[in-house]
Order: sequence, then structure tokens, then C-alpha cells
Amino acid sequence: MGALGPVSVSTAERQRLDVELGERSYPIYIGRNLLSDPACYRPYIVGERVMIVSNETVAPLYLDALRAGLEGFEIDQVILPDGERYKDLTTLNHIFDALLERRCGRDVTIVALGGGVVGDMAGFAAACYQRGVPFIQVPTTLLAQVDSSVGGKTGVNHPAGKNMIGAFHQPRAVIADTATLETLSERELSAGLAEVIKYGLISDRLFFDWLEEKVPALRALDPVALATAIDRSCQNKALIVAADERESGQRALLNLGHSFGHAIEAGTGYGTWLHGEAVGVGLVMAAQLSERLGWLKPVDTARIQDLVACAGLPIVPPDSLPSERWLELMAVDKKVQRGRLRLVLLQGIGAALLTADVDAGQLRATIAAAQR
Ligand code: NAD
Ligand code: MG
Repeated sequence: MGALGPVSVSTAERQRLDVELGERSYPIYIGRNLLSDPACYRPYIVGERVMIVSNETVAPLYLDALRAGLEGFEIDQVILPDGERYKDLTTLNHIFDALLERRCGRDVTIVALGGGVVGDMAGFAAACYQRGVPFIQVPTTLLAQVDSSVGGKTGVNHPAGKNMIGAFHQPRAVIADTATLETLSERELSAGLAEVIKYGLISDRLFFDWLEEKVPALRALDPVALATAIDRSCQNKALIVAADERESGQRALLNLGHSFGHAIEAGTGYGTWLHGEAVGVGLVMAAQLSERLGWLKPVDTARIQDLVACAGLPIVPPDSLPSERWLELMAVDKKVQRGRLRLVLLQGIGAALLTADVDAGQLRATIAAAQR
């Protein structure tokens, strides 16, 4: 995986970057007011028919603009209830019902308009419907624009676990309209910033430096700063995904902060903490454990903690979780192989690595120290 050069500042206008996956390659368009720009969609829709999948929060805000961009196609839509708790097989079936009721064939293109929940469900429906139809991602949360819409993971939750039923299915295009972020709550915006900071930490020190200066502009929704951060985040994710499309190795680095975050989300009951909030604390705790192991300088841990706080994210885990419960929850995480806890830790800012042998004592000490 090649390192990225200096952060080049984007314009607020439409720009394009490509995810290189051979015949499954696709463009990501980033910019303001792309939603109703037909040029973003036309080249990626083969047939005449489009099924828009959105939810009851996003549709009233953006469905009309999207429909304007799709003018000329035969458009149907299915509007799902809003919320992670509806990311399940029952709700997924509403999409199949709509496709079948409208007698859509394999030439239909599914367009996902919404955050990661809508994107994951619409993408999974596209992977399954008549054994696979094309789909386009139109992400409307920061998290979806920098993370969930890119990389081809789709799926739904099962009562036994998050994202347990799913498929890899790459979109034909991703259209990230930064203007949609203007209606997003501050809390959701900050949650997306956790994943943005994560890319800097994994392999992009220059981006981390840039973020230290620009996070206030991002929180103020400065269009140039947003386009730059989304572009750079997607470049990072695209490089990792291109190197390891189906997560047999390097893609696991994207889980930096997520084992700790998972324990917080599950331990406090899903929905109490936003995923990005838990990941924010998870990044800080990964840094603290790395420092405890002698891998990371204290000054770098402090920088990480400061940047996460500056993004409006919590930096201290809930004190309600006893450390044995933490270990239990981290051990049921997907990062367990053959009984060993595998964690992504840091050897520096921009230098993450997956390690198989974390000492449980050091981990306990890190948790105890974090729960000040
Ligand atoms: P979300 O989709 O639930 O969106 C958060 C909230 O914001 C929702 O209430 C939504 O309706 C609302 N919303 C969306 N866009 C809005 C807008 N422009 N203005 C106002 N409100 C808006 O949550 P999310 O954080 O976008 O995504 C989380 C989901 O993504 C999880 O299910 C997670 O598992 C999944 N995910 C998938 C991947 C992947 O690789 N496929 C990666 C990361 C996360
Ligand atoms: Mg995440």
C-alpha cells in the first residue's frame, strides 16, 4: 500500500477519485450539490429503471433533489423506518417486496439515499435481488461518506450480532454531496469525525497533522475542508480495500479503536453511545495501550487524545463496565482468532499494526487507568 503525499486541498466543486478493483472499479464523486446533478448518475445506470431506497428522515429532506438528478429514468422508491434497530431481515424484505411489486428485472439499479444503515441494507438487497443487481450509494452522513459507502460491505443485523448477515457487493458509483451534511446533528457529525481521525492514525500522518488544524473548520461545515477530508479519507479507505477487498489481512487495520469501541457499545447497550463516539474513545485507549507497551510516545498519545476531544467526542470510557466484562466483550469481537485477542495498535501516528499477542494484564491496566 503506497503512502499518500501531502494533503491536497479540494475545491468545493465536483471532484472524482477512483476505487481500483479491476472490473469492479468505481468512482467516488465528492462536492456540493451533486444530488441533483444527472452527470453523476447517468454513466452508471444501464437500464431504464431505478429503485431509490431511503428512510423516513432523509427522504423528506433530499428525495426530490435526487429525483431531479435521475430525471428521464423510471423511478420507484421505498422508504424504510429510521434506525439501526430496523437494520434487519424484516425491513430488508420491504425492499424486495417493492422490487417485486413493481416487477423490476435485473436491469433495475438500486440507489441508496441515506446514512450507513440505508446504504448497508440497500446494498445487501442489491447483492441478493435476482442474484445481484447494480447499485449506487448516495451517502448523507459523514460516517457514510467516509466509511460505509466505500468498500462493498453490505448487510443487516441478526439478534445474535451486528452485521452478521451480509455480502460483499461493490457499488457502481458513490456520490457524496457535502451539502447534505448541513442538516446532520452535531453529534452525528462528530461521530463521523472519529472514523476520519482513524485514517490519519492508521497510515496517514500528514492527514493527521492537517486535521489538527482543520477540525474546527470541519465542525463548522466549511465546504472546502469537508471535501478535502472526505476525499482524503476515501483515498485511504480505497487503498486499503484495493489491497485486500475481502479482509484477509490489511483491511483489519480499519478496525483500529473498534475492539474497545465494540465493548463500550455492547456493554452500555447498543444505541446509548453512537458508534463513532465509542470509536473515538477506542482510538484513545488503543493509543494508551500502545504507550503502555512502549510502542508509542506519550506526546503522541496526548496529541491523539486532544484531537479526539477537539472533534467533540468523548475521550473517557464509561466507568460502569467492570474490566472482566470489557475483556469478555472484546473477546467476542470478530478480531479473535484461535483464542487469542488480536488488536490493532499503534507504533506511531500513521503507523498502525495488527498484533496477535496482547497481554491481558496490560489490557486490564489500560482499562483501569482509562476509567478515571
Ligand atoms: P445512520 O444511517 O443510522 O444515520 C444516522 C442518523 O442520521 C439517522 O437517524 C439518519 O436517518 C439520519 N440522517 C442521515 N442523513 C442525514 C442528513 N443528511 N440530515 C439529517 N439526518 C440524517 O448511521 P450512520 O452513522 O450513517 O451509519 C451507521 C451504520 O453504518 C451502522 O449500521 C454500521 O454497521 C454501518 N457501517 C457499515 C460499514 C460498511 O463498511 N458497510 C462501515 C461502517 C459502518
Ligand atoms: Mg466503524
